[in-house]
Amino acid sequence: MHIIIKNGKVFTGLGNSLEDLTIVIENKEIKEIAEKVDFEKYPEAKIIDAKGNTVLPGLIDCHVHITSEGNADMLKTLHDPVPRHTLRGAMVAKKMLDAGFTTVRNMGSGDNIDIELAKAIDQGMVDGCRIIPSGRCICMTGGHGWFNGREVDGADEARKGAREQLKAGAQVIKIMATGGVMTEGVEPGSPQMTIEEMQAAVEEAHKAGRKTATHAQGTEGIKNAILAGLDTIEHAIFLDKETIEMMLERNVAIVPTLAAPYQINKGGIEAGIPEYAVKKSMRIADSHVKSFKMALEAGVIIGMGTDSGTPLNRPGNNAMELELLVEHGMTEVQALHAATSVAAKIIDRESILGSLEAGKLADIVIFEGNPLEDIKVLHNKPVTVIKEGKLH
Ligand SMILES: [Zn+2]
Repeated sequence: MHIIIKNGKVFTGLGNSLEDLTIVIENKEIKEIAEKVDFEKYPEAKIIDAKGNTVLPGLIDCHVHITSEGNADMLKTLHDPVPRHTLRGAMVAKKMLDAGFTTVRNMGSGDNIDIELAKAIDQGMVDGCRIIPSGRCICMTGGHGWFNGREVDGADEARKGAREQLKAGAQVIKIMATGGVMTEGVEPGSPQMTIEEMQAAVEEAHKAGRKTATHAQGTEGIKNAILAGLDTIEHAIFLDKETIEMMLERNVAIVPTLAAPYQINKGGIEAGIPEYAVKKSMRIADSHVKSFKMALEAGVIIGMGTDSGTPLNRPGNNAMELELLVEHGMTEVQALHAATSVAAKIIDRESILGSLEAGKLADIVIFEGNPLEDIKVLHNKPVTVIKEGKLH
């Protein structure tokens, strides 16, 4: 079974411009990508004419909450029964795939729903984006995200928590280094899990060949997380020169999730978002953007992640983050890399995803218009979405 995409302007995820390339898909993979393809070799191929459109690698969102649909007061649905959360997750996964996001990394899900949902999608039981699931996040007792996390105190328990998650099938371990916006009574700036606790969890993840990601907003917590060996810093709201130097030295990436506070601050209390969340979010907004700009300037690896599912940060509107990355200083090409090849590296799937190359999985999306000139075209529904060689 072959599909051929011809006449499109192709952004491979590797270069910096659009190229005139023809792509041949064979089963799940990209078989050929070249200027000239011998069509006679594939007489039965389905032909997609992408004239006037842009062909991109399937987009990747490094930070989502798949079981949340971004209601203003998202915590109201927190105690929904597991079947309802699961169905919501399936709905969200489909919305993201519809929007051209073929892969997402889920950052915390109660009851390990994301782990089972990821399997169900892989097995073709339900349609949706590919999910790299963390399952329950590891946090301190009463710490950020405790309501659906695995609360741990002390290095041994953190180690056990990570082992439990790996046993359940987590493909990445999410660790809470600081407080956050959406948990009442905790401060974004304050450190939470200790270096020793995080180190133990990281060690277990790395032994199992898995990466780690940390929710880290305050400077001291970010520093602790880097020292503990965390692979990615999510949010990274209060960066300073020292933390940036440390990240550059150790190749640590950040996933800023600019869309999360943007939507909270735009909607405000009037939209029904809890007052404590709006107040905290307003307070961190300037530092967040300043930190992002500093990191960008310094050359820190930056991945695209929405934090989709936080208040008014709707699944399917994932492209908003790309727009904000550009608004605050990235070029369109940099933003596209952040959601393709760089993102694939961050989620540890660079050998199979993130760029259009022979041998990689055929995750391909086609949009009208040119996102290298106007990133906003990614807000429109893609003309074509192909995941693992299958037309969606
Ligand atoms: Zn998050």
